[in-house]
Amino acid sequence: MTDVIVLGGGIVGASAAMMLAHKGQRVALLERDFCGSHSSGVNYGGVRRQGRPLHQLPLSQRAHQLWGELPGLIGIDGEYVRCGHLKLARSAADFDALHAYAERTREFDLGLQLLDRVELRARFPWVGDVAVGASLCPEDGHANPRLVSPAFARAAQRHGAVVHEQAEVVHIEHDGQAFQVHCANGLQLRAPWLLNCAGAWAGSVAAQFGEPVPITSAHPAMLVTEPLPVVMNVSTGVEGGGIYARQVARGNCILGGGRGFALGPRQARPGQAAVLEILRNAAELYPFLQGAQAIRTWSGTEGYLPDHEPVIGPSSTTPGLLHGFGFAGAGFQLGPAVGEALAELVCSGRSRQPIEAFSIRRFQA
Ligand SMILES: Cc1cc2nc3c(=O)[nH]c(=O)nc-3n(C[C@H](O)[C@H](O)[C@H](O)COP(=O)(O)OP(=O)(O)OC[C@H]3O[C@@H](n4cnc5c(N)ncnc54)[C@H](O)[C@@H]3O)c2cc1C
Repeated sequence: MTDVIVLGGGIVGASAAMMLAHKGQRVALLERDFCGSHSSGVNYGGVRRQGRPLHQLPLSQRAHQLWGELPGLIGIDGEYVRCGHLKLARSAADFDALHAYAERTREFDLGLQLLDRVELRARFPWVGDVAVGASLCPEDGHANPRLVSPAFARAAQRHGAVVHEQAEVVHIEHDGQAFQVHCANGLQLRAPWLLNCAGAWAGSVAAQFGEPVPITSAHPAMLVTEPLPVVMNVSTGVEGGGIYARQVARGNCILGGGRGFALGPRQARPGQAAVLEILRNAAELYPFLQGAQAIRTWSGTEGYLPDHEPVIGPSSTTPGLLHGFGFAGAGFQLGPAVGEALAELVCSGRSRQPIEAFSIRRFQA
């Protein structure tokens, strides 16, 4: 007997499976490839609250607490460090926007520190002259997604969830009481709850249950440099977007920005134009990277809704169906809290964090 079938072994599905199993539910986690092998394992690794829309902040704050308990939750530290997130402004208007964000988010206690040009130079001398100011969120940070995301699935397993990898869900039926889920490898499972955590591919599950969403896929471009002397002591981004960069303890700098392209439904590449643009921006914002050798480039497949907000919560058509997908390039940090919210919906009918803004109903006429 299974109480809950979780479709998708990214950080969202694996967190939900872990939280549910911890609460005593009989859980099956179904993953088409390997747990954490898509967005959740190939992302930039930014674990930041700064810059999120206001209605994401309660969930993001809860995620921040969960990240703080990571070794206890998943058994490893995942190279998670709370080194700070520095958002750079390249113009006076961008610096004003950082001020306005700090004002709007005051009640959330993010501890944002606004640094003018002089303060920025004094504290972060490695930032290029093109930056006129910055906002520092001292408790944000970064982690290694390749370690963290699969570890959530292993933790789910330790709590009693049954994890099926290379189990592609190809057909789902609902008879009014329970879901019957069929996998390409012949596995069949039945349960009263189904969690749609299928990332960029979740739209087809929603559509099957009569609630299509205008989800599209996009492919953030990423690269990593050779190991360099360690100078970046924070993770960085830029107001208005364009580039983000962090340096890991062994010296490699990880940079992202722009968009790549799909090779197929499950594979993506960063593309030459995006990589060159990252390198051009990097030399300007982080002059110490001039001439650094990029040793690998990659991308991933992420789901985007038109408003760049995720879908989280109950189906509007089918009892027992919950959605958690479409994180628009920012779901790694939120993942553990989304998993917890989905587990709470199963176990008590409501989530402690407000999630109404993410309802799938917003796409219904
Ligand atoms: C390059 C890149 C950089 C990013 N950088 C950041 C960042 O710095 N910070 C941040 O917070 N977020 C970032 N993100 C976004 C973040 O990675 C995602 O929002 C998050 O990982 C989404 O998790 P998920 O579990 O919803 O999806 P996924 O990790 O995509 O997991 C969904 C899983 O469902 C499985 N699946 C799909 N269909 C089926 C099926 N029919 N049967 C079985 N399994 C199925 C897939 O195989 C997949 O493993 C980035 C994303 C990318 C691509």
